[in-house]
Amino acid sequence: MRRELAEAAVDLAAYLKGLDDSLAEPVPGGAAGAAPAPSLAAASSPARPPEPAMREERPADMDALAAQVRGCRKCGLGHARLKAVFGVGSCKARVVFVGEGPGFQEDHQGEPFVGRSGQLLDKILETVLGLKRADVYIANIVKCHPMKNPETPEAHGNDRPPTPEEISACRPYLDEQLRFIRPACIVTLGSVATKVLLGTEKGISLVRGRAYDYPVELFGPGHPIKVVPTYHPAALLRNPNLKRDTWEDMKLLKSLLDAAK
Ligand code: SF4
Repeated sequence: MRRELAEAAVDLAAYLKGLDDSLAEPVPGGAAGAAPAPSLAAASSPARPPEPAMREERPADMDALAAQVRGCRKCGLGHARLKAVFGVGSCKARVVFVGEGPGFQEDHQGEPFVGRSGQLLDKILETVLGLKRADVYIANIVKCHPMKNPETPEAHGNDRPPTPEEISACRPYLDEQLRFIRPACIVTLGSVATKVLLGTEKGISLVRGRAYDYPVELFGPGHPIKVVPTYHPAALLRNPNLKRDTWEDMKLLKSLLDAAK
């Protein structure tokens, strides 16, 4: 027992040290504060949200789905975006990380979680899970950049959360991605992704620290996907105190992935 505790302390110290480079420069703006987290690891389900449905022809594979997204104009975001941000990683990934939507960098590069938040996510993957970006799948709930002013996609500080209408329009694409990947786990990054995917009104600090069943039955009864909510990497950049909770969440994820082997 003493030895296990010592090893865990070494793991945590290595993780914190590994993240220090990414956390060196503070990011403007506040972050949600961390509340004490429950230590429960058993799965449970909050209220089940209505299952979204594809309104267009169901694609044959991930490439066909990506082509649909690149041509999509189902909501206003499609008219202002520079690039649709479909998702990146392995279609055989056992875990899918989900954020709320692309920001400035993602809109320009067409890839989710790039820039400092993406670098931090990559470090967390590597130090806690021993995984690279190519080993997992990373996506957002909305595939186009929500902007405060859609006339100025080149402006910094123009990001905003997606509206319920935009989320509703785009959500079916995410579930199609999940159907193709068939992951064991989803990690929701931040409050917006967590609220949408778990159908809860509670903020991330209240729901993180435990696992849930994904409320949408993509593969029929008895084949739930486990959902592990944690902080968005941007929140860790603003508030380094959150990185210890994130380490705990990633350890929980690792235990679920090991159990699902
Ligand atoms: S955000 Fe989603 S639904 Fe809206 S235009 Fe982009 S791909 Fe289509």
